[in-house]
Amino acid sequence: MKTEDRNFLGEKSLHAGRKTLRPVEARPCSVEWRVYRCGCQGATAVRWGCERVDCRECRGSVSKRRAAAAWERFQHRPRGSAVVYTVFTVPPRLRARMKIPGNWDELRRRAWAMLKRKFGALYGCEASHPFGENPKRDGFHPHLNFLWVPGPQGSPFVDVARLRAAWASLLDTGLAVDVYSQYSREVGKIRHWARYVTRPWCGFSWWCGNVKWYGPRAFINRKSDDGETWKCETCKTEYKYLGKIEGLSGFLYERCRDYFGVEIGKIIDRGKFAGNLAGSG
Ligand SMILES: [Zn+2]
Ligand SMILES: [Zn+2]
Repeated sequence: MKTEDRNFLGEKSLHAGRKTLRPVEARPCSVEWRVYRCGCQGATAVRWGCERVDCRECRGSVSKRRAAAAWERFQHRPRGSAVVYTVFTVPPRLRARMKIPGNWDELRRRAWAMLKRKFGALYGCEASHPFGENPKRDGFHPHLNFLWVPGPQGSPFVDVARLRAAWASLLDTGLAVDVYSQYSREVGKIRHWARYVTRPWCGFSWWCGNVKWYGPRAFINRKSDDGETWKCETCKTEYKYLGKIEGLSGFLYERCRDYFGVEIGKIIDRGKFAGNLAGSG
C-alpha cells in the first residue's frame, strides 16, 4: 500500500481514540401546519416539522421519506435484477480512527469503487450506522450498509470469502473482518431493507452524513410520474394547497378558520404521505 493510503487510516487520526462519539443536540423543532383542501368536507392540516435528520420529533417523518426515496430508485432497476444488501464492519482495533468523518468517507468511497470494479455493481446507495444492535455492550461499531444493483457483468450472489478478502485488503489489515451480503427480488424484503438501512441516527448526522447515492444519474434521479401528487385517501381527489400556519398547535382550528375560511377536518403527520412524496427530499 502507498504512503498516502496509510495516512488515511493512520497518522491524522491517531488521537481519535480519545474522543467519544457524542450526539449533538438538534435545534428545537420548528413546526408549521400546511393546510390542504380536497373533496372532503373539512380541510387537512399536515404537521410539517423541521425535517432535520437530528430532530427526534421529526424522526418518523424523515425516516419514511428516506425509505421511500430509496425504494423509489430501486424500482427503476433493470428488469429482473435483484437488490443486494452488503454490510462491511470494522475490526475493533481499527474502529477508533473511523470516528473521524473524513476517514470514514474515504473508506466508503473506496468500498463503493471495490463493489463496482470487483463485483460488478451498477448503482446503489450507502447509509452508515455508528452502532450495532447492542450499543451499550459494543460501543462505537461503525458499519457501511450498501444497497446496490448489479450490472450486466455482476451477479447478485456475492462470494462472501472473496468479499471478506477484498475488504481486508482495502483496510490493509491481517485482522479477521466481518462482512455480510444477501440479495432479493422480493418487494417486501427490499422495502424493509430500504427502511432499515436509511433510518436516521438522531444526533449523529455529523458522523453519518446523508444517504449517499452512487452510479449513473439515469438510475438515481428518476422519479415516477405520480411522484409529486398528493391525493386524499378518503375522496381520492388531489390536495390543493391553501397555505401555512406557523407555530404551535394552540388555536390551530381558530386560525385555520380565520385565515382560510375552512374548518379543519383532520390532522396528519407529513410522514404519513411519504410514499406519495418519494424523491422530494
Ligand atoms: Zn423537527
Ligand atoms: Zn378528501
